[in-house]
Amino acid sequence: MKHARKRLLDWYRVHKRAMPWRETRDPYAIWISEAMLQQTRVETVIPYWERFLARFPDVHALATADLDDVLGVWAGLGYYSRARNLRAAARMIDEKHAGSLPDDARALQALPGIGRYTAGAVASIAFDRPEPVLDGNVKRVLTRLLGIREDISRPAVIERLWREAAALVQGPHPGDLNQALMELGATICTSRAPRCNDCPVSRFCDARTVGDAHCLPIRARKKTAREVEAVAALVTRRGRALAVRRPSRGLLGGLWDLPGGELAPGETPRAGLTRALRERTGLEIARASAIGIVEHVFTHRRLTLHVYRASTSTDRIRLDGFAGHKWLAARAISSLPHANLTAKALHLLMPPTVRSSD
Ligand code: SF4
Repeated sequence: MKHARKRLLDWYRVHKRAMPWRETRDPYAIWISEAMLQQTRVETVIPYWERFLARFPDVHALATADLDDVLGVWAGLGYYSRARNLRAAARMIDEKHAGSLPDDARALQALPGIGRYTAGAVASIAFDRPEPVLDGNVKRVLTRLLGIREDISRPAVIERLWREAAALVQGPHPGDLNQALMELGATICTSRAPRCNDCPVSRFCDARTVGDAHCLPIRARKKTAREVEAVAALVTRRGRALAVRRPSRGLLGGLWDLPGGELAPGETPRAGLTRALRERTGLEIARASAIGIVEHVFTHRRLTLHVYRASTSTDRIRLDGFAGHKWLAARAISSLPHANLTAKALHLLMPPTVRSSD
């Protein structure tokens, strides 16, 4: 382990990819990068991270920001609970820790949205604490390196991997060591085609010796995504269009959306639209025309969204399952914080050429 550790550190210093958060020691900036990098590619994150830090340069700026502003800067990154948690955690840091991130993993884990991985990453990278990290890349590297041929979806196996990562991180430069493991998994020890000939720790690697690296880690079969059909409509009344706000908790929480809902089993999209709008907004549809279909994949759901343009003459809104609403010019809906799915529906309803003259 000691030799493998040194080789990992030497390799990382030469081969690490340039990333703007690797140029700073500011714990706040490092924390924001770690939150953004969850489930998201580095290239996607870079411009978001730069915009976020320009807009909210420190904990206090984020703690006192309007949630809509935070969601607006986050829009397009997905997994919006991360943005809500960042702001909630910033408020707590501002109040309880005088605006500075705590420097130990346990105190970090007490903050909203910070789990074991993020706490380990921030504590080691920003504060040089010997705390382990275990993300998908580290799991892959460690199972191969140590020849762990058990299902890594089992909690006992995950706990073993945490222990192995904790043993490996002890020593100098724990932050670099963690980043070296993640970097190796991202660039050399990849899932489909590990480049063992270029690997700094190949001589210590069990999977390389056995020749089964491409079979590791072992995972039980993943559940297939649930197929869901839903409807959404640009509903207008006297030249204004309706936007509804999702409740702050749950998928896409706090974001603005077009009204609609999931179809019941066997229901046609047109019937579902009438029912969903009646039940969820209290509106009766006078006219509706189908505009097209949007497909979107969430982690556990594959959504087919039937998009309509509809009109209503009902005045009174009665919301059920939404946290707020606005009547506004149709083109103004896209300036509210909204998810990628809503952006796709708006694009269908108002293609850019139409939107600019709308
Ligand atoms: Fe991964 Fe191959 Fe390196 Fe082993 S030798 S850690 S399988 S890249």
